[in-house]
Amino acid sequence: MESKVEKGCFFLSAAISDAFKSGLFPERAKLEVYKELVFWRDQYKKLRITHDPIRAAYIYQQEVDRSMEAYKKSKYGPQIKCAKGCSFCCYQHVSVSQDEAMLIREFLEEDKVSYNEQLMKAQLGKGEHEYKTLAFKDKRCMFLNDKGECGIYEVRPCACRKHVVLSDPKECSVEEFPDGLVLKGLDVTSELITSGMYNATSGGSMADMVHKALQEKPINNNQ
Ligand code: SF4
Repeated sequence: MESKVEKGCFFLSAAISDAFKSGLFPERAKLEVYKELVFWRDQYKKLRITHDPIRAAYIYQQEVDRSMEAYKKSKYGPQIKCAKGCSFCCYQHVSVSQDEAMLIREFLEEDKVSYNEQLMKAQLGKGEHEYKTLAFKDKRCMFLNDKGECGIYEVRPCACRKHVVLSDPKECSVEEFPDGLVLKGLDVTSELITSGMYNATSGGSMADMVHKALQEKPINNNQ
């Protein structure tokens, strides 16, 4: 079948790529997925013309929230086990877009939120695979505070917003259960909104991207 989707290489989130590989999507559905991905990518490009990139990232984060709300109201909602205070997923590699990194930088400056510089340094240059080789204590997100809460909750990346698990949360502890099987909830729309943004801009590991944003525009502590 001749695909109407434009040719080229797309970034697809790991969740969607895995679902493709597992045969979860029939070919016809894959085409729809790509079309939607192109839609979200192009919408983001347009948004960046009419809005400040930081605002554009925030608008997409709100879109993910809206989609996740709908997902939580779906038949999968009652199966979601994530709860406040559980922060196992904050020990995983997180990708952010360039615009999200700038949004986080702005939040750190305006709300005078601190982050763990030591952790940021430990995670610099660690892509998804290298991240797994870090000691457990060094995998902790630099924004996770002493109470186990996200210090940048209002502007946390799309990658964090779309992450929910349907299996027992204990299994999420990669330290206690290194071979545990975690069943992640998959909201396709949230995945595509996020991937659309990544396809419209550059992105990378959270530590690298936030570090870069802070280097380019250091925080003004006198504000
Ligand atoms: S940004 Fe917040 S939600 Fe995301 S990994 Fe870090 S502490 Fe967790």
